[in-house]
Formats: sequence, structure tokens, C-alpha cells
Amino acid sequence: MKILIVEDNLLLSEEIGRNLVDNHFKVEQAATLAAAEEKCALYQYDLVILDLGLPDGNGLSLINSLREGEIMPAILILTARNSVEEKVKGLNLGADDYLTKPFHTAELNARIHSLLRRRNFDRKETLEMGPLSVNLPAARAQLGDTPLNLTRKEYDLLLYFMQNPDRVLTKQSIAEYLWGDHIDQADSFDFLYNHIKNLRRKITRAGGGNYIRAMYGMGYRFSI
Ligand code: CA
Repeated sequence: MKILIVEDNLLLSEEIGRNLVDNHFKVEQAATLAAAEEKCALYQYDLVILDLGLPDGNGLSLINSLREGEIMPAILILTARNSVEEKVKGLNLGADDYLTKPFHTAELNARIHSLLRRRNFDRKETLEMGPLSVNLPAARAQLGDTPLNLTRKEYDLLLYFMQNPDRVLTKQSIAEYLWGDHIDQADSFDFLYNHIKNLRRKITRAGGGNYIRAMYGMGYRFSI
């Protein structure tokens, strides 16, 4: 997944970038509208994080040029607290979501995951991996022909694992994905354990293997 950050506040851009790299995204940065347009003309991005107030113009004009391209990336607008009008304009032009500054990293992560999930799953109704299959419109998972009867959190957890197979996911990133904004205030992520335990049990009871492995001190890894 490749993300372009268009932001002239370099400290903020760096901070967002570090966070995304920690979350295993490939990141590029542009500090001006001209630089962003050049990059978008040359490369394909899955997501553009777009500040509107840029030194050489309004970020909204980038949305227009992106629409002329073959595949439009998902667009997340960053706006100042008082610019409701710009936000509406951006959404009307085809931006997918917006975030008001200042924002928490966890909130940004949650928005990005939901945008990319929507985008990646747009054309798919079923997600399959080994004997596991998930019917996305119905939000139902099954192993072979056996329904797993997951809770909402277990279902989201399974989707997150299936989107990130063979990769160590930290407890924090899983918690952020499942609970979003306020989770960075948590003292520990022990509450996650029960959801993972239950999901694992439902899969093995249906005849599946132990796909979710705890990686001591690191997090969890999902492999089939
Ligand atoms: Ca700015």
C-alpha cells in the first residue's frame, strides 16, 4: 500500500509519515501542490492524505487532476478546524473523508484503514483464504461450510488478520484498528486477548488450524 502525504508543515508530515511506516505502509511526501501533482502524474498511490492550505495553491485542485487519471486513489483531506466550506467542497469533488487538525494518530490510522478497506473491497463480495471465507456484505465468516458465528469485534479482527497475512501485527495496531480513536489512552491491551482467544477457538472448533499465533513480546501473526 502506497500513500502520498501532501502537507507543507514538515513536522506534521514527518510525524504522519513515521506513523504510517510503522504501520507497514510505503510513504512518499510532497510539500507543495506542484510537487504533489508531479508525483501523482508519475506514480500510482492507494491513498493521498491532502492538506488544503499549500504554499502554491489549494489542495482541492489536486483532486481535480487526480480525477483525470485512470485509477483515482482514495483521498483523505486534512482541514483546519474552521474550514467547513472547504471540507464540503472537497467531499463534493470526490474526496473520501476528512480529518480536522489537530488529530490523534490513532484516529488517522482508523480512518485510513477504513478508507483502504472500503476501496480494496469495493469490487469484492467475498474474501477467501484457505478454508476461510468472509461474505463482506453480510458480515459473515465461515470455515468450509461451517458458519463461525463471530461477534462484531471478532469479525473485524478476522478481517484485519486476513488483510495482513504472514505479518506480525502489534497489539497496539490491532487495538487501534478495532477501537480507533481513544485506544491510545489505554494502559494495556489485555482486553484484546479475550477477543483473539475466542476467535481462535471458534476457528479451531469449526475444524480449522491455529492460524493466529502469539509472537512473544511482539504481537500476533496470522498464517494459513
Ligand atoms: Ca498547510
